[in-house]
Amino acid sequence: MSIAEGLMFAFDNTFAHDLVGLYEPWRAAPSPHPALLAFNEELAAELGLDVTSLRTPAGIAVLVGNVVPDGASPVAQAYAGHQFGRYSPRLGDGRALLVGEIIDVHGLRRDLHLKGSGRTPFARGGDGYAAVGPMLREYLIGEAMHALGIPTTRALAVVATGEQIARETMLPGAVLTRVAASHLRVGTFQFAAAQDDAGLLTRLADHAIQRHHPDLADHPHPYLELFDRVVDAQASLVAQWMLVGFVHGVMNTDNVTISGESIDFGPCAFMDAYDPATVFSSIDTTGRYAYGNQPPIAQWNLARLAEAMLPVLAPDPEVAVEVATEILQTFPERYTRHWLTGMRSKLGLVDELPDDAALVDELLALLHLNQIDYTSFFRSLSAVVRGDTTPTRSLLADPTAVDAWLADWLARLDSDSVDPSVRADAMDRVNPVYIARNHQVEAVLAAATTGDLAPFHALLDALRRPFDERPGLEDYTTPAPVSFAGYQTFCGT
Ligand code: AMP
Ligand code: MG
Repeated sequence: MSIAEGLMFAFDNTFAHDLVGLYEPWRAAPSPHPALLAFNEELAAELGLDVTSLRTPAGIAVLVGNVVPDGASPVAQAYAGHQFGRYSPRLGDGRALLVGEIIDVHGLRRDLHLKGSGRTPFARGGDGYAAVGPMLREYLIGEAMHALGIPTTRALAVVATGEQIARETMLPGAVLTRVAASHLRVGTFQFAAAQDDAGLLTRLADHAIQRHHPDLADHPHPYLELFDRVVDAQASLVAQWMLVGFVHGVMNTDNVTISGESIDFGPCAFMDAYDPATVFSSIDTTGRYAYGNQPPIAQWNLARLAEAMLPVLAPDPEVAVEVATEILQTFPERYTRHWLTGMRSKLGLVDELPDDAALVDELLALLHLNQIDYTSFFRSLSAVVRGDTTPTRSLLADPTAVDAWLADWLARLDSDSVDPSVRADAMDRVNPVYIARNHQVEAVLAAATTGDLAPFHALLDALRRPFDERPGLEDYTTPAPVSFAGYQTFCGT
């Protein structure tokens, strides 16, 4: 196959076709000296793209936005959003472009998107660029989430642009090539609802159904059912974040997808010691998006989606509010169901018994009180099932503090008839050994910013198989040193 053939993308751009009024056609700013920093071969293959050709200068020119491939129709997407509770009627892709849609090898439609590709009509005060560090962070966290089995957008590549951009200091610029089930956001519905065009909202809802829930096309109440599905997807997603100790950091309505994929990894991080008040983002001064606030915030965001969708939910506005409220009120119960199912798996519980929730609550209180590393603790429990309490007890300054809970839990395990080694192995498949620990992430991004990508790729390799303990990777399992307490990430760069 020639290189030109290898760079053929079979684009089929339904967003640009269906949703005039929700975008501006646009081109990426040219990058003078693009250099490939990270390339996701596995994802490229899944997209049916030619790995070898994409690594050539011609391929990199596409990944960075210098060349618009045949069939692409790059657009900057419009959206609104509540940012930290305050409504902005016009956000949109200020530094990003939807290049086009491709059907992957599984027959799924995927967006190919650029981030950091220069100013667009939605740029407001921003420069349109992104720095190498944050784009590699997005790459790394997306792969970590994917490997943990959590729905997420993923990065296909990070390409350094060869230009320096102005942040607190001058930093190397980069473009992230992102792949998503779609880039439809709660904020997309908010934007559509605010336009003086009743048909636009209906077209958007139809597009979302076609894209994510085609089985609803003939449903008697397709839009209500769409809302219901989004509520469930978000309840499930946030439950999965909570189960691995993930703090998104910026759960604004423009960062909430209709697909239920995690998106926009800015000041996100995994918590070390268990504490519901954990916040990492330097801009989240009130703790609005703290770890423990994520479920109610998700419900708040879905209420904003409901408001935007009201005109299509029922012809009578009062009825629309009533039916939307009814669905919205199921969020806590749905969230808890998803979360408790996940917690049962983490603890190796097979049957559903009424006291399970209390057993989990007692454990979380214990972890909080003793400031125990969340990830290490859950991982250590499979050793207890195999007969060794040392790894678990050694996580506590006072090991006896956990003994009563361990005894209760072991007694509870007796009520399921499961072979201990089968149970322990199943627990090891849901409790990761390796998460993206903040001090490690910071270290590899700092090295990458000065041109050394080896630590980034080493960490990425560990995170790609998070449940599979391997010798030589012990460094990735230890919590941040105490000097890292109060760790903050800085947003949007
Ligand atoms: P984020 O916090 O990354 O989700 O972005 C929020 C909004 O700000 C979106 O509309 C972005 O497109 C926009 N934005 C963030 N950084 C920049 C930048 N450097 N230049 C232009 N727009 C930006
Ligand atoms: Mg965003």
